[in-house]
Amino acid sequence: MKSDVEIAQEAQMKPIVEIAKQLDIPEEELELYGRYKTKVSLETWERIKDRPDGKLILVSAINPTPAGEGKTTTSVGLSDALRKINKKTIVALREPSLGPCFGIKGGAAGGGYAQVVPMEDINLHFTGDFHAITSAHNLLAAVIDNHIQQGNELGLDVRRITWRRVVDLNDRALRNIVCGMGGKAHGVPRETGFDITVASEMMAILCLAKDLDDMKKRIGKIIIGYTFDGRPVRAEELNVTGALTLLFKDAIKPNLVQTLEGTPAFVHGGPFANIAHGCNSIMATKFALKLADVVVTEAGFGADLGAEKFLDIKCRFANIRPDAVVIVATVRALKMHGGMDKKELATVDMKALEAGITNLTKHIENMQKFGLPTVVAINAFPTDTKEELDFVEAKCNEMGVEVALSEVWAKGGDGGIDLANKVMAATEKTNNFKFMYDVNESIEAKITAVAKEIYGADGVVFTPPAQKAIKELTDLGLSNMPVCMAKTQSSLSDDPAKFGRPTNFTVTVREIKVSAGAGFIVALTGSILTMPGLPKHPAAERMDITNDGKITGLF
Ligand code: ADP
Ligand code: MG
Repeated sequence: MKSDVEIAQEAQMKPIVEIAKQLDIPEEELELYGRYKTKVSLETWERIKDRPDGKLILVSAINPTPAGEGKTTTSVGLSDALRKINKKTIVALREPSLGPCFGIKGGAAGGGYAQVVPMEDINLHFTGDFHAITSAHNLLAAVIDNHIQQGNELGLDVRRITWRRVVDLNDRALRNIVCGMGGKAHGVPRETGFDITVASEMMAILCLAKDLDDMKKRIGKIIIGYTFDGRPVRAEELNVTGALTLLFKDAIKPNLVQTLEGTPAFVHGGPFANIAHGCNSIMATKFALKLADVVVTEAGFGADLGAEKFLDIKCRFANIRPDAVVIVATVRALKMHGGMDKKELATVDMKALEAGITNLTKHIENMQKFGLPTVVAINAFPTDTKEELDFVEAKCNEMGVEVALSEVWAKGGDGGIDLANKVMAATEKTNNFKFMYDVNESIEAKITAVAKEIYGADGVVFTPPAQKAIKELTDLGLSNMPVCMAKTQSSLSDDPAKFGRPTNFTVTVREIKVSAGAGFIVALTGSILTMPGLPKHPAAERMDITNDGKITGLF
């Protein structure tokens, strides 16, 4: 089998102008970045905004294991398969972050014969959106430090400035720094640090904003820190919201590329799935819904985090709802959830599968709690046996859920026809979509609803610092926003070592933060790193480029 980058490099891409033409977008409405990438202009939005929405398919998964699940691969392959059964389809995905490419993870543009291309560009710089986010984020940081240097009229407590700096690389040495060293002319020393760009609140705002005005409003509302008497200070008090917003004049427009089979793909925005909501921009999803009959989109991590936040945060802000949910699982990962060691996954172990399938069935139940028709996609591996596949199918059918074997990684769209048909059938079923909580409930009640209903916890423990923060936010009138749960992706519980379907546990909320501009309250259940590090031998060591520009080792 060829590597992902080899398959991508062999692709016969169509000029992006032709892909746009399939969607009836004329060349005048495109802002081209070379031959194969384009931004779609806001004039297009004006032209299409009153059209009815197409159908929305949300792709999510069981809790990720090191065995790999393949949500992006399945999303891309499903969109290709839908086009094969004559549905006008668009896939909407996140933009990958640059830092992790050079760490362990590799790219995030799908895999095998289900990829978006040009994959090297998508993984490396792309159309510069992350540069815009990094610049806007750091401009605000520079203005804050300058404000302090020039006399600190607002009375900012330099120990309580929450706005840090960002860079789109894995660089653990920048997690905690002291800035402003060197004496009077060089700033006021204070402790701060860097996060990776995808963790920036500016990223979350870009992905949740409806238009530039909405973006400006949200940027103005960002809380950058507190005064000595504990008053939150908003970005708008520094008088630079206009300047910050103009840096997004191009970044706000969705990027159009294509899959290996020429299906249009919007790849736009990529917030973290822990301290943020983890899915592509509302702009891209809305454009896609107006331009296609069916839109396939992915939410990060497992369905307990990605899908829950897609539904409770993104759908609430965008006023949309999925017509069906696809839960991706692999037989290998289910066996790992049943306690099997990663090295033995190629062997049949029905006991492990039976124990591990509880993770899948819990996620199915959860989607049913949201009132959404659900289909399970088994992402096929050569080691899967008929006995194992039959077992998974029978279990899902018991719950009234269809299962399809997805072979899109090996075969592209042809490997996803059965899945596509089952997904379309699911969209015809009754949809009783509802949110998991009302935003006007207390912060504790909202978190408890998610922990009990979705994670299966007995209850939630709030540490004293979390209780204090909840009281502060409630007193400030900031409690009526959705909650963004930051939890381990590896388990339904807040303990990454608990596989399968954990029972008899409580969730501990250690810290509460507010992203007042993005519009959500972040509940942290463990120590969540917002600046990743690199492993001993980073993937960067295996990458190279030839003199004529051919890239190797990008996974
Ligand atoms: P996710 O979106 O869930 O993080 P991806 O779709 O990005 O997962 O897939 C993760 C990795 O696993 C990719 O490198 C992809 O090529 C690989 N992969 C996915 N599905 C398969 C499969 N069926 N067989 C082999 N490798 C696969
Ligand atoms: Mg993915």
